[in-house]
Amino acid sequence: MSESTPEAPYTTNNAGIPVESDEHSLTVGPDGPILLQDHYLIEKMAQFNRERVPERVVHAKGSGAYGFFEVTNDVSQFTKADLFQPGRRTEMLARFSTVAGEQGSPDSWRDPRGFALKFYTEHGNYDLVGNNTPVFFVRDTIKFQDFIRSQKRHPVTGLRDHDMQWDFWTLSPESAHQVTWLMGDRGIPRTYRHMNGYGSHTYMWVNAGGERFWVKYHFKTDQGIGFLTQDEADTLAGSDPDLHRRDLFESIASGDAPSWTLKVQIMPFEDAADYRFNPFDLTKVWPHGDYPLIDVGRMVLDRNPEDFFVHIEQAAFEPSNMVPGIGPSPDKMLLGRLFSYPDTHRYRIGPNYAQLPPNRPHAPVNSYAKDGPMRYTPSQASRPYAPNSYGGPAADVARFGDPAGWRSAGEMVREATLKHRDDDDWGQAGTMVREVLDDAQRDRLAGNIAGHLLDGVSTPVLQRALQYWRNVDKDLGDAVAKRTDAG
Ligand code: NDP
Repeated sequence: MSESTPEAPYTTNNAGIPVESDEHSLTVGPDGPILLQDHYLIEKMAQFNRERVPERVVHAKGSGAYGFFEVTNDVSQFTKADLFQPGRRTEMLARFSTVAGEQGSPDSWRDPRGFALKFYTEHGNYDLVGNNTPVFFVRDTIKFQDFIRSQKRHPVTGLRDHDMQWDFWTLSPESAHQVTWLMGDRGIPRTYRHMNGYGSHTYMWVNAGGERFWVKYHFKTDQGIGFLTQDEADTLAGSDPDLHRRDLFESIASGDAPSWTLKVQIMPFEDAADYRFNPFDLTKVWPHGDYPLIDVGRMVLDRNPEDFFVHIEQAAFEPSNMVPGIGPSPDKMLLGRLFSYPDTHRYRIGPNYAQLPPNRPHAPVNSYAKDGPMRYTPSQASRPYAPNSYGGPAADVARFGDPAGWRSAGEMVREATLKHRDDDDWGQAGTMVREVLDDAQRDRLAGNIAGHLLDGVSTPVLQRALQYWRNVDKDLGDAVAKRTDAG
């Protein structure tokens, strides 16, 4: 038995009551049955059974840290959002993740990475839920569920299945740009610190005069881009599956705080109608030559969370959190996410998730929401309804301006009929292959694609994949065909 001093902490149950034993349950005699009155034992078992919340359907495995964002340039002519005003410094939380793997999956699987940011601004939380790629596999939110199922596990074997992946991709030519990106060097970042982040969607910015602009966000890593080759990643998946989580935690703990420089592309509101690409299509970028990058500020992650579950597993990012000066665009993927993110949080961690430490705004909350499971913040409204004549909060449009929006009219359609000049599915992917990558990168790209295709892809899907790559770039398609020996 260890001696206990008055200062040493003693074990209590969840009600703060000292427990009788850490190691022995209460029985009748040494070999007798366990007694129901051993409440502490029952509390321990019951609590243990409830330790998990459902993991995220996508982006299940992640890591994160707190930090700050500071503005270094004056972009107030484009937005009145308080976090982007000159000299402003805003506390923030970031969570990086893989997409298709589960909580225990290796960090080095080839997959896009989530780049989710929450800024605790003066006017509430601004969430920018991005990725480490500027584009995505599909452009319509109605295909997202199908896309993810094709990347997850096969319903019969329970295994990841390359045939399903390539079947979906090759039947969805709009995926070509993102798949090119994914199969290239940046498809497996060296660490979370060595990758860029992109808002990916187009958003709207509104300035103090009510003028509207379209905007795309680019967070460029200050650590420099770093990647893992497929061979390195395969080895690390076995020997160090949590390497990215460890790297982020340890670098911050040792005082080496990673940072990213935020740049934006700004498109005048009127340009959207006849720009050569549909500016709201998530499978396309805006070439920098058309809309150059403009500096905004710097994000620094310098504080590890004190508890992983509380601050990272329960972190709830939602693109619908937009503050005055920022609004959505007609991007169909974005509009779908405005619904699906808060919906998944309500399911996964409960309807009062906004009160949890990582999600709690630093701005005052004067909402009329009340009650529900696990609520502990009393409602600030003097009467639980609006309007009321007892001094309850009232929406103040004069102070914050009209909501950011755009005019829309016309027949109901499922596909845009207004085509922009260069809106084909292969063009930007081909530009990347021919104009951005060098010979060594193109060679690794062909090798990565062929390696992936040779792992369980059926002959008809493989044939379709070769045509897919020849559509992106004839030489690349031929190089893949040669490596797969499939004509
Ligand atoms: P630029 O020559 O101005 O820029 C090329 C872009 O490609 C840079 O942002 C660079 O990022 C990025 N890049 C370099 N190597 C890779 C790689 N292996 N995988 C993914 N991205 C890479 O070109 P444009 O703006 O005219 O665009 C040309 C093509 O570049 C596009 O079709 C698109 O495929 C790709 N691209 C464009 C981006 C954009 O927003 N315009 C963003 C990312 C890619 P960095 O500067 O950080 O090294």
